[in-house]
Amino acid sequence: MERRGATVTGFACAKCGREYAPGEVALTCGDCGAEGILDVLYDYDEIAREFSRADLERSRENSHWRYLPLLPVGSEETLPVLRTGWTPLYHAEGVLGLPHLYVKDDSMNPTASLKDRATSVAMARAVEEGVSAVAAASTGNAGCSLAGFAAAQGLPCYIFVPANAPAPKVAQLLVLGATVFAVDGSYDDAFNLASEAIATFGWYNRSCAVNPYLVEGKKTVAHEICEQLDYDVPDKVFVPVGDGCIMSGVYKGFAEFERLGFTEKVPELIGVQAEGCDPIRRAFDGSCELVPCEADTCADSIACGHPRNWRKAVKGVRASGGRLTAVGDDAILDGMARLAKSTGVFGEPAGVTAFAGLVQAVREGSVTPDDTVVVLMTGSGLKDTESAMRAAGEAVSVGRSLEDVERAIRERAEI
Ligand SMILES: *Cc1c(COP(=O)(O)O)cnc(C)c1O
Ligand SMILES: [Zn+2]
Repeated sequence: MERRGATVTGFACAKCGREYAPGEVALTCGDCGAEGILDVLYDYDEIAREFSRADLERSRENSHWRYLPLLPVGSEETLPVLRTGWTPLYHAEGVLGLPHLYVKDDSMNPTASLKDRATSVAMARAVEEGVSAVAAASTGNAGCSLAGFAAAQGLPCYIFVPANAPAPKVAQLLVLGATVFAVDGSYDDAFNLASEAIATFGWYNRSCAVNPYLVEGKKTVAHEICEQLDYDVPDKVFVPVGDGCIMSGVYKGFAEFERLGFTEKVPELIGVQAEGCDPIRRAFDGSCELVPCEADTCADSIACGHPRNWRKAVKGVRASGGRLTAVGDDAILDGMARLAKSTGVFGEPAGVTAFAGLVQAVREGSVTPDDTVVVLMTGSGLKDTESAMRAAGEAVSVGRSLEDVERAIRERAEI
């Protein structure tokens, strides 16, 4: 029998809570407009009747399609082919003095970031809808991800990036065949221009700000953590936060497994922003509406001054009993080198921001060696080699003689 994904029973507005039947609403809430992004609803009793932990134990699917019964996609035949998800969860035993530390390496996705989880679900929907082209505004990774999936699908792809996007990401976009518009401005300017172009040309919109299906893909990272820890939910999960879509997905994934009876709790979720761009943390701490800001951080993938998924993210963090925090660029670059040297996992600045937040939490004593902690590592360090060089220092210059090498080794030993 052909397998199908979950049946969507409706949508709920993340701002006012108004519910819509499938087909009743196009993109965002009719009452709240652009502020009212939607959450996808399912009938979990129905899902629980057909989907169990035993099914997962038997599953030989080594991608996130192993959670197809919880995903809003149709037949298996239209699923994108690039293998996404089921990334490694490494036990980083003893790192930072924590015996129960785990690192979820989502740079092991097809275009080397967690964004692929979202793109694969969005692309499955786009193919079902028979779209002729896809588009997005992106700080880099969402675009690279869309470009990769569009290439595999043979669809034209249009990406709007801020002009200061790291060169390796622009190279990745171009080599994957996307048409790249480098916008003279910030990510938020790129976002606004992309929205106009998408409306004008009728492209499929892969933007977390309007497309409710992206959170659905991102939630699978939480499903995987549960399975990989044998359903023993960790105490704390550290998550980098830019727009807030990953955090929204992480909460939803854990909440779903609890709702289905697969696990007993949702972990405390700790969202980490960059100090140079932390509007969600400020809204959380002040219990107020979001105030957009100018972004100033080396962690370009979370340099999102006007986040659109902040309400969902804040709601999820609150429900989990967690909090939001922020770290400076120095701590991020230090975290980049530290994580790589202690675990072999090489992340870009935004990718290691959650780890930098954990370093801070251990120093402050809010995380102790008794805690079981998972850190999400969301993107490959090769996407931003300039930051990597800033984090890692210089190569040792030597002549062609062995004595040079010996002297250099002695000098380093003395340091
Ligand atoms: C997009 C991205 C994030 C942040 O995700 P949001 O959903 O915008 O909060 C973090 N890390 C990397 C590597 C990303 O590409
Ligand atoms: Zn609404």
